Amino acid sequence: MCRHLAYMGPPTTLKSLLIEGPHALYEQSWRPLMQRHGTVNADGFGFGWYPAPKRGGSPEAPARYRRAVPIWADANLPDLARTVRSGAVLAAVRSATEGTTQDESAAAPFQEGQWLFSHNGAVADWGTMPVTLTSEELLGVQARSDSALLWAMVLRRLRRGEQVADALAAVVGEVAAARPTARLNLLLTDGISVAATTWGDTLWYWTGEDSVTIASEPGASPADVDAAPLGTAGPATDGGVAVGPWQRVPDRCVLLASPADGVQITALPPSRPTEENGAQ
Ligand code: GLN
Repeated sequence: MCRHLAYMGPPTTLKSLLIEGPHALYEQSWRPLMQRHGTVNADGFGFGWYPAPKRGGSPEAPARYRRAVPIWADANLPDLARTVRSGAVLAAVRSATEGTTQDESAAAPFQEGQWLFSHNGAVADWGTMPVTLTSEELLGVQARSDSALLWAMVLRRLRRGEQVADALAAVVGEVAAARPTARLNLLLTDGISVAATTWGDTLWYWTGEDSVTIASEPGASPADVDAAPLGTAGPATDGGVAVGPWQRVPDRCVLLASPADGVQITALPPSRPTEENGAQ
């Protein structure tokens, strides 16, 4: 399983968001503390960030940087992270699932227009999973991986006008019915709000004064690190791991979050295995 993170709030550097501070995503790549599958996340990494909106203009599409090397092995990263600032970021470190592409095309975030997407989990036999995509949508799948296929399924719904949280919930329902063992922690943003699902692995959130951070495991939140250092407020530990003011998202939920509206969490309906898979 990978580790992923989304942040919305006052503009901050990628360095303070992803690299600095206790148990940042950077450290989670070689020392995840809550990851349920896999040991390290050394098969690549990526982040996408939205430029500051121009006054009165519509929001611009995000930029991405993705590599197939471990995050600690990229010599370009320190300068990039030190100088790129954004108020809306989605990032992930990858532990590749067997049978998927190893190159950077399979490193999250996946992107289309305004949207950024990441998948933490695995889908068994995804190559034979029944899907309702057009030939064009199938040819547009961005990498040879389960996550890229899920992204195509989500994207189809977004293009039809579905809301971010509804699109994720619907795809989790479809995939869990066809592949009951699938693990489906999805993360999606349009640069304004973040949607996420929990289906088989951990997810946490932290709402700061004017920020929200969603992450696979607790780490520092840049906007609040001075105000509430990790482990000094709220429930201090979870299973021996310092969690500070972070809140755990229960499994099998969909979350919708933005700095303006806070965090809403809704239980996902139980999956209904299709007949073919009902025996599992
Ligand atoms: N299955 C996805 C991949 O191969 C995600 C892996 C993960 O969560 N470790 O990239």
